[in-house]
Amino acid sequence: MTETAMMPTYARIDLSFERGEGAYLFSTDGRRFLDFGSGIAVNALGHSHPHLVKVLQEQGAKLWHTSNLFRIPEGEKLAGRLCDASFADQVFFTNSGAEALECSIKVARKYQSHNGHPEKYRIICCNGSFHGRTLATIAAGGGEKLLAGFGPAVEGFDHVAFDNLNEMKAAITPETAAIMVEPVIGEGGIIPASHEYLKGLRETCDEFGLLLIFDEVQCGLGRTGKLFAHEWADVQPDIAASAKGIGGGFPLGACLATKEAAAGMVPGTHGSTYGGNPLATAVGNGVLDVVMAPGFLSSVIAISNYLNEALEKLTKRHSDKIDLVRGAGLMVGIKVAEAYPVGNVITALRENGLIAIPAAENTVRLLPPMIIEQSHVDEAAAILDKTFSELEG
Ligand SMILES: *Cc1c(COP(=O)(O)O)cnc(C)c1O
Repeated sequence: MTETAMMPTYARIDLSFERGEGAYLFSTDGRRFLDFGSGIAVNALGHSHPHLVKVLQEQGAKLWHTSNLFRIPEGEKLAGRLCDASFADQVFFTNSGAEALECSIKVARKYQSHNGHPEKYRIICCNGSFHGRTLATIAAGGGEKLLAGFGPAVEGFDHVAFDNLNEMKAAITPETAAIMVEPVIGEGGIIPASHEYLKGLRETCDEFGLLLIFDEVQCGLGRTGKLFAHEWADVQPDIAASAKGIGGGFPLGACLATKEAAAGMVPGTHGSTYGGNPLATAVGNGVLDVVMAPGFLSSVIAISNYLNEALEKLTKRHSDKIDLVRGAGLMVGIKVAEAYPVGNVITALRENGLIAIPAAENTVRLLPPMIIEQSHVDEAAAILDKTFSELEG
């Protein structure tokens, strides 16, 4: 590959794109790909969605940025809509998922100190989770690879097994401020938490005076067929982080909180220069226009059921190569047998015209845009079948 001036923190694929349309990407070398990666769950409405293009162009011609020193009507509108549709009363806008988590962590710590418990600052997280790449969020993730070489990990994060309520309870100490989990683990291999576990976390937090934080950066914003994945368990957190799909490709994130949880977040306690600027939040409103339109989320559920049926057939046909398929809605993991490294599977799929994303546990991750139709699923299923047939260990 030719040398570039980009800091080589990514082992990039030697492929670039010039155009996207719905569920398809067109590469600079003239090929067409069915995009079931959506830029890692970001292009929630596919590429160049007409409504998002219109909103972006209209707002782009009017006003981009004013700073948070002034009121931002587009942001107030988006915050109000997110709160009307969720557990939350207040929203802090960010530019990324990691920042939404940073804000969530700060809100939880501030809540405890604001309520006379400055000693309660620790947050219990789960092994195999991913919360971002800032110093605090790599400490929250806790993985060796995330932390190596970056000095002492930020203090105050404890780790237990995912989906294990007993371990979670046993880890609580007088210094614990909050529990933070992904309702569906993303990077870690597409692993949904059981609904009983999420309910148990709520009860545990209530019993011990802790705040419950859900990281919905990947699983939220409609991907599972509900606006937020935790709705399936009928559980409400105190704080939730959103990003990825929320801007449909425009950098935007959000920390949602109840009024009680955010009581300590008074003027001067937190900020962001760009966060939630008029351009970003106009686009965010455009995404919500589509996602909250009557029938949209039920169409996500319907197409995800159709995808699941196709993947069940695929698993049966290739049971020697596929261990299992798991996930929630349009967040699906195909766990491949160890003899077939996931990187090779992803490359082979791409050569056959399908973009998918690797995740931990040798998992092929499918995060198609929420606008896909049956024909897209049929096309993806045919490519998956062909690829697994050709695959050699
Ligand atoms: C992607 C992701 C993040 C980090 O988001 P960035 O926008 O990359 O900072 C945090 N949590 C989860 C669950 C994610 O999938």
